[in-house]
Amino acid sequence: MSAQRVIGVDLGGTKILAGSIDGEGRVLDRREVPTPTGSQAELLEGIAAAIEPLVGAGVAALGFGIPSVIDHATGRALGSNNIPLEDLALGRLMSERFGVPAAVENDATVAALAEWRLGAGRGARNMIMLTLGTGVGGGVVLDGALFRGWAELGHVVVVADGPPCQGNCTGSGHLEAVASGNAADRAAEKLWGEGASAELLVGRASEGDAAALEVLSGIGHLLGAGIGSVVNVFGAELVIVGGGFGIAAAEFLFPEAVEVARREVQLESFRAALRIVKAELGSDAGLIGTGLLAFEAL
Ligand SMILES: [Zn+2]
Repeated sequence: MSAQRVIGVDLGGTKILAGSIDGEGRVLDRREVPTPTGSQAELLEGIAAAIEPLVGAGVAALGFGIPSVIDHATGRALGSNNIPLEDLALGRLMSERFGVPAAVENDATVAALAEWRLGAGRGARNMIMLTLGTGVGGGVVLDGALFRGWAELGHVVVVADGPPCQGNCTGSGHLEAVASGNAADRAAEKLWGEGASAELLVGRASEGDAAALEVLSGIGHLLGAGIGSVVNVFGAELVIVGGGFGIAAAEFLFPEAVEVARREVQLESFRAALRIVKAELGSDAGLIGTGLLAFEAL
C-alpha cells in the first residue's frame, strides 16, 4: 500500500490545497491556488486545475475535504457556507474526470482523522477538533471511531443574539461569527481600518500590542465557551485547535480559552482531565486527512 500514492484536496474558503500523499500520510508534492468563489462551475475548474499537475503515473485515488455538510447515503454535498457548492456529487464528478475512485468528507472531519491517526490525537477515545480558518469547522472522534455525521460545531451559539454569522448561515452569535479567521479580520479592521487582517492582529500581538492582545483574549474567551459547550455534548477529553488562524493565534487564544472551557465543563473529573492543544500537523492536518480518506476509498 505504501508504494501507492493518492491525491488529497483540502478545499477551503480562501485557498485550495492539493497534495500527492503516500500511504504513511507524507505529503510528497503540493499545489496551492486561491479558491474561485464566483460560481460553482469556476470552483470545479479550480479544483481540477489544482489536481492536474499532480496527476502522474500511479495515482490510485482522490480524497476531498470540503467545508460542507455531506449526505453519506448519496455522496452529495448538501450545502456549504463559504463556497458556491450545493447539492453536488463532487466525488462522482471528479472520479469520472480523473478515472480513479474518489471519496468526499467534511474538511474538519478529515482534519480530525489526520490528527487522531498521526498527530496530537493519537490514542484518544473521545476528541474534538476545531478548525479556525475562513469559517470554523468541527470534527469528532467518539468512542474510538471517527464520527461522520452532522457536526457543525462552528455553528454552536456562544453569544445569544450576537453578531450575525457569515456566508449562508442565518444564525447569530455562532462560534464562526466570533472566532473564525474572518471574524479576526473584522476585529482587526475595527482597530486599524480597512485592509487590516487577522495576520496583522496576530503580528501586533506578538509585538506586545495591548489592543491586539485584548482582542485575541476576547476571541479566546468565546472560543472557550464554545469548547466548554461541545465538551459537555460529546464528553471529549481532548480538544485540538487547528486551521490557519487557530494555529497562528493559539498562544494568544489559549490562556483565556482554557480557563473558560474548564469553568463550563460540567463534571469535575472531566474538568481536570480536559486538554486543549494545538494541531500537531499544523495547517496540513486537513490535507493529510484527505490523503487518509483517499486510501480508504481503495
Ligand atoms: Zn453560523
